[in-house]
This record gives sequence, C-alpha cells and structure tokens, in this order.
Amino acid sequence: MKRFLALLRQHCPVCLRGQVFTSLFGMHTHCPECGVKYERETGYFLNSMFIGYAAGFLILAPTAVLLALMDVSIAVFSSVIILETIVLTPLIFRYARLIWMHADQLLDPRQPEPPVSNLQSPPPLHDSK
Ligand SMILES: [Zn+2]
Repeated sequence: MKRFLALLRQHCPVCLRGQVFTSLFGMHTHCPECGVKYERETGYFLNSMFIGYAAGFLILAPTAVLLALMDVSIAVFSSVIILETIVLTPLIFRYARLIWMHADQLLDPRQPEPPVSNLQSPPPLHDSK
C-alpha cells in the first residue's frame, strides 16, 4: 500500500520519498532523498516502453471503439485520437517509467546509497624531501 501511494505520487522506488521527475519529461539522475541512481544500467528504461505501449493501447482502444460505433468521419476520428495521444503522453511516459522502476525494485531490491561525506576524504599526501 505504501509503495502504491509512492508510485501514484511519483516517488523513488527505493526510499519511497524522493521525487523522480524534475519537469514534464525531465528526471533526476539520482534520488534527492536516498541518492540511489534511477537508471541502473544502460537501456534500463527500455522495458518501460513496453509498459507505455500497452498502457497507450488500453487507454486509446475504448475511445477508438466508441468513435467507430458513433460512425464519425475519419477527420474527427483522427483528430480525437491524436489529441488524446498528445494530452496523455506525459502521463503515460511518467507512469510507465515509475511502474517499471517499482516492479524492478520488488523483483530485485536495492538499498539506499550510503551518504557521501566530506569527512572521509583521503589523507593528505606528504611530500618526502
Ligand atoms: Zn530514494
């Protein structure tokens, strides 16, 4: 339930607190709360595209069927479908990535990154003269 709320609020899959997105399509590279890197490996978000395709189809298909039953012209049909696609693209993009990240966290859990501390800097080098 806590994870589901974090997913709806578009929060980090690891700590469930940090925001994932900075703008409509922009993402933080690391969680601002726990520091975990969102893109675990190159091509990590490729799987979210499959979720996006499926979600897009499931959302647009009822509209398409309804418009076909209403026997509207092809211009109206295309306009409505294109407009709906444009309006829903940010939502589908964000939730496809979030669903993928949260599902991946459940299947292959990660711990929050250890905090980076300046106190543990390497000892200063001594000149040997
Ligand atoms: Zn986090």
